[in-house]
Amino acid sequence: MKITNLETYELQIPFSTGVETSASDFLKQDTLDFCLIKIDTDIGITGWGDAFSYNCRKPVAEAIKHMVKPLIMGKNPLDVKQINFELQKKLHLFGRYGITMFAISGVDIALWDILAKHSNLSLCQILGSAGSKEIPAYASLWRYEDIEAVQDRCNHAKNLSYKYIKLHEIYKSEVKAAREVLGDIPIMVDTNCPWTRDQARQTINDWEEYNLFWVEEPINPPEDFEGLSNLRTETFTPIAAGENACTSFEFKKMFEAEAVDYAQPSVTKVGGITEFKKIISIAESYGVQIMAHSPYFGPGFLATLHLVQSMPNPGFLERFFIDFEAYIYPKEIFTPKDGIFKISEGVGLGFDPDIHVLKDYIVK
Ligand SMILES: [Mg+2]
Repeated sequence: MKITNLETYELQIPFSTGVETSASDFLKQDTLDFCLIKIDTDIGITGWGDAFSYNCRKPVAEAIKHMVKPLIMGKNPLDVKQINFELQKKLHLFGRYGITMFAISGVDIALWDILAKHSNLSLCQILGSAGSKEIPAYASLWRYEDIEAVQDRCNHAKNLSYKYIKLHEIYKSEVKAAREVLGDIPIMVDTNCPWTRDQARQTINDWEEYNLFWVEEPINPPEDFEGLSNLRTETFTPIAAGENACTSFEFKKMFEAEAVDYAQPSVTKVGGITEFKKIISIAESYGVQIMAHSPYFGPGFLATLHLVQSMPNPGFLERFFIDFEAYIYPKEIFTPKDGIFKISEGVGLGFDPDIHVLKDYIVK
């Protein structure tokens, strides 16, 4: 089998957060970027991948077309590990974190889709199922910086039977507001790297009364593993991080530093399924629970669903709490029932994108 073509599909799909807020314009984004990858083969099997592209869609698509595509044309897609190894080796000088790794990740996902389809199995069967067909979901709320909006969305997520809810807030008033309406429901807070080490320690200790399930990425820069490690001894709140780490080498450093209670690899960033699998093994050997980063609605989401199903403890899976004008897969995939995602039994990733939606929202 040979790779005969690779195309990117750049999409922008409008979404709604479900509430009006008083937040800054920066938080009032209303479309999300997609950079999908379609790889064709000489035997008619097509694979789909998904590279991280939020606010960096064009550079990622260009990297795929001009840096990655020439290196994989004509290769046997079943040699996915070899292809991933060679791409990382040949492209290392362009960065082991960022656009280059996002591009490699998207292509790798498409190759695994081909591998599973060729075997007439679902991706989780290829990866080796750990037996659990049901994955607990958590609602990952937008950042509203608005108390009423936080309470409205927390109530909405609770009414939809989510058992875990994550905020993206950085002020105490919003965290307090969420706890007031959620009662005993576990709350996580993703802060996206806003603080120095001292600020993080002071803030997390100040929030201790809210009994948070984890605080995510409290320190800038995200790779300050020593700072995160110190924080774990200086506070009582579990620490999560990892969406800004690429490759298993970064995760090994993170675990070696005892930086996190929960590791959050992102399949569209770390180097794809090939690299995510290595991270699962390393996390197991360090005794760190993975809570996959998956605020996605394309092949990256499906790939994550299969990957976590290959772990004895799948952790919780992130459902970005926004609603799109259109979905490239059936919306039911992204709609947990009673707070549980079900794994797809279809071959490969389980679904191919709806070609009509691709045509309607393509931006080039
Ligand atoms: Mg995060």
